[in-house]
Amino acid sequence: MKIVVCIRLGPDGEPGPFDACAYEAALRIEGAEITLLSMAGEAAKEPLLRLTRLGAQRAVLLSDRAFAGADTLATAKTLAAALKRLSPDLVITGRQTLIGDTAQTGPMLAVLCGYPMITNVMSVDRVDAGITCTTRTEGQRHAPFPALITVERFLSLRFPRLRSRMGELTVWNAAELGLSPDGVGLAGSPTRVLRTFENQSGRRKCKMIRREALPEVISEALAAYRTVGASPSPSPERLSRLCTVGEAPMEFAKSVSDDITVIPMTDAATVAEAIAALAPSAVLWGSDAPAKQMAAEVAARLSLGLCADCTRLEAENGALMMYRPALSGSTVAKIKSLTRPAMATVRTASEGHTDVVVGLGYGVKDELARAMKFAEALGAETVASRKLVDNGYLPYEMQLGLTGKTLSPPVYIAIGISGAVHHTVGMQGAATVIAINPDKDAPIFDYADFGIIENF
Ligand SMILES: Cc1cc2nc3c(=O)[nH]c(=O)nc-3n(C[C@H](O)[C@H](O)[C@H](O)COP(=O)(O)OP(=O)(O)OC[C@H]3O[C@@H](n4cnc5c(N)ncnc54)[C@H](O)[C@@H]3O)c2cc1C
Repeated sequence: MKIVVCIRLGPDGEPGPFDACAYEAALRIEGAEITLLSMAGEAAKEPLLRLTRLGAQRAVLLSDRAFAGADTLATAKTLAAALKRLSPDLVITGRQTLIGDTAQTGPMLAVLCGYPMITNVMSVDRVDAGITCTTRTEGQRHAPFPALITVERFLSLRFPRLRSRMGELTVWNAAELGLSPDGVGLAGSPTRVLRTFENQSGRRKCKMIRREALPEVISEALAAYRTVGASPSPSPERLSRLCTVGEAPMEFAKSVSDDITVIPMTDAATVAEAIAALAPSAVLWGSDAPAKQMAAEVAARLSLGLCADCTRLEAENGALMMYRPALSGSTVAKIKSLTRPAMATVRTASEGHTDVVVGLGYGVKDELARAMKFAEALGAETVASRKLVDNGYLPYEMQLGLTGKTLSPPVYIAIGISGAVHHTVGMQGAATVIAINPDKDAPIFDYADFGIIENF
């Protein structure tokens, strides 16, 4: 069985955690003949060859100066051209890279190649005439071959054995893929990063409180949320007709337009048709996994730019300006779409189920039972930092942050969490953040509205 694993190498020459899981999942499929596929500069040759030592028969490097500066759609188009030549039975991609962290390339690729897809895979259960997987969001799913799956971070990549064989490497450029230089790289990318600046948006002014005040602070925060909501700041300039897909992005839509049409969230083909018929200035989706997937599918169908995970929108000279965290959340990028309608997914509360979310960190690893009870008493959903997950205390499904999930609840209580930006980027949309930590210098207090400097 021919499997292609799409890999983006990080600055250290290593695949990101999701792509590493994609490769390991492929290696565990019996009778797999694996090709690693990567679009990168010539410098990627050596690390790709090194990766073939783990079991891939070969690596295909898509390398051409014209590929530089590609956004997700231009990347997907380039990878799709290579997949057409490789004609695999199965394509496995990571959910997202850490550099772009949009989770768009996989679904776009499936649409461009016409493959059925399964996203957010947590385990591969059966491989026969097709593939059956358990997903994080939709239970068990099956897709006939040829198929594409995108995986979460449920496996770690194995180490090479001492006498392992190296696979072969093939390099293809734009001409060899039959792609014209103006359809790839920066020239073929419908989105443009206009500028980047330091991410201050998650930072808050922290008021220190006594532990006894906690119940009162929580109920006041919830009451304030119910009356005011967590509306994004309004843009002075307004856009002409704007569409939302479903109701989730409504608050963001209201921040930039007074003329809003809601398209029901049915399926990608129907939504794409509605967008083409309505010809709005912009289209917004929420940020839960199904919305993100559909947005990427529609963007590929209509060949439109798509900006992921926006935290702020603005109208400028009749165009939508989209602001999103980038580079692991340390930076904010201001992005514009060159195609119209502009399309974006916006950070909404949609993945959360409760008003209060309790985040548990490594600092309470020895007090987990008590911390869980505390959360239960508040009727709160519990999430975890990566350090707790990686050390085996709690399952990956609970992980919040850059390489986990994102939540925007009315109240987030961080217990025993130091406040690394990789974690705070996942809770940045919470209306009120409360931190409990004995270290008064812990960065989490820079991201909290209320702080309790105490052991939990
Ligand atoms: C590429 C990449 C991606 C990452 N993705 C994520 C991600 O998605 N999510 C994520 O969470 N992290 C992620 N990380 C890891 C992140 O950088 C931090 O290492 C991690 O969040 C730290 O977890 P922590 O705060 O639980 O632990 P620590 O940093 O060890 O902090 C523990 C805290 O607990 C406090 N403490 C100690 N005792 C107590 C007590 N009794 N009561 C209360 N507090 C106490 C300590 O003062 C300390 O501040 C990522 C890292 C990288 C490099």
